[in-house]
Amino acid sequence: MSDAATPGEFELIRRYFMQDVEPACRSSQVSAHQARAGVVLGQGDDCALLAPSPGLRLAVSVDTSLADVHFPRDASAEAIGHRALAVNLSDLAAMGARPRWFVLALTLPEVDEQWLDGFARGLYGLAREHDIALVGGDITRGRELSITITVHGDVPEEGAITRHGARPGDLLAVTGALGSAHGGLRAWFDGQRDEHHPLVQAYLRPSPRVGEGMSIRHMVSGGLDISDGLLADLGHLCARSGVGACLEAGAIPLDQALVASLGEAQALEAALNGGDDYELLLALAPDQEAAVRQALETLGGALHVIGRVTAEPGITGVVSTGRGWQHFHAQDQQAQAHHGTGVAP
Ligand SMILES: [Mg+2]
Repeated sequence: MSDAATPGEFELIRRYFMQDVEPACRSSQVSAHQARAGVVLGQGDDCALLAPSPGLRLAVSVDTSLADVHFPRDASAEAIGHRALAVNLSDLAAMGARPRWFVLALTLPEVDEQWLDGFARGLYGLAREHDIALVGGDITRGRELSITITVHGDVPEEGAITRHGARPGDLLAVTGALGSAHGGLRAWFDGQRDEHHPLVQAYLRPSPRVGEGMSIRHMVSGGLDISDGLLADLGHLCARSGVGACLEAGAIPLDQALVASLGEAQALEAALNGGDDYELLLALAPDQEAAVRQALETLGGALHVIGRVTAEPGITGVVSTGRGWQHFHAQDQQAQAHHGTGVAP
C-alpha cells in the first residue's frame, strides 16, 4: 500500500512492527531477544525461520477481529491492539500451550500513524508480557479495519488441554468472574467511554489465562476458553467429549460491578450467554480440585466450581428468573445463545 503522501507498507512495518528487532540486526541477524524466543530468521525475508522446542508439539490458532463486529471502532487504538492479540493468546491458554510466535495481517482504511502507534503499543505491551515474538506480517489497504493474527505456541506431547477430555463425574470449574465483558460492552453502548471502568476494561482488555493454562494442563481432563458465552462453550465441551453437564447457577462467579450495573438476574444472564470473558472452563476429576486450586492461587487466580459433568447429554441446572429460581434445560437457550463476538450487546 502506498501513495505519494503516505509511507509504504515496508516503511510502516519498519516503524511500528519491528520493535523487537534491534536496528543493527535488521539485515540478516536476529536480536538477542528473538534468539531466546527461537527465532532463527525474523522479519525481512519471505518467511521467518523458527526453531520449535525438541519433543514439544506446535499449537496454532488464527482469529480475525473486525471493526464494529468484534470491537467498537471508537475504542482506543491501544485497546484494539491489546484485544486483538489477547483473544488469540486465549486460544493458546485454552490448550495449555506456551506462546512463542505470532504473525499479523492488518487491513487499514487509511494510514493514520497516531493510530498505528497506539495499536502497536497495545499489541507489544501484551506480547512482551507473555513472551511472544512478532515474526512477520502484512499491511494492506481496504475499506474496513481488519486485524488477523496467527499465534503459535508449544505444548508437551499428550500435554494439551482439549475439548474431548471431559468425563462423567468431573467437576466443571471456571478461572474467574463471568459476564463482566458483556456488561462492559453494554456500558460502552450506553455511552461509558472510560476505558478504566472495570466492566469496560473486562471487555476491551481481557487478560488471557496463559500462565494458568500452562500450570494446570497436566491436572485437568479437558477445557476451553470462554469466548462465545458459558452455555455455548460448555455446549462445545460436552459435544466434543460426548457428555452432558449439570450447572449450579448460584455458584457462577459474578463481578460486583456487574451485579451493581445490571442487577442479579441480568448479570447471571450475561454470565451464561454474554461471551467475551476469556476465562477458562475446565473439567477436572474431583481428586484434582485441591491441586488445581492451589496452582491457580499461586498465580493470583482462583478456581470456582460451577457444576458437574454428567453421562446424560444436555445441559441442565437452575437459574434465577428475577422472581426466584427455576430449573432449566439449556438446549433452547443454547440455540439462541448470542455468539459472543458480535459487538451489539
Ligand atoms: Mg477458544
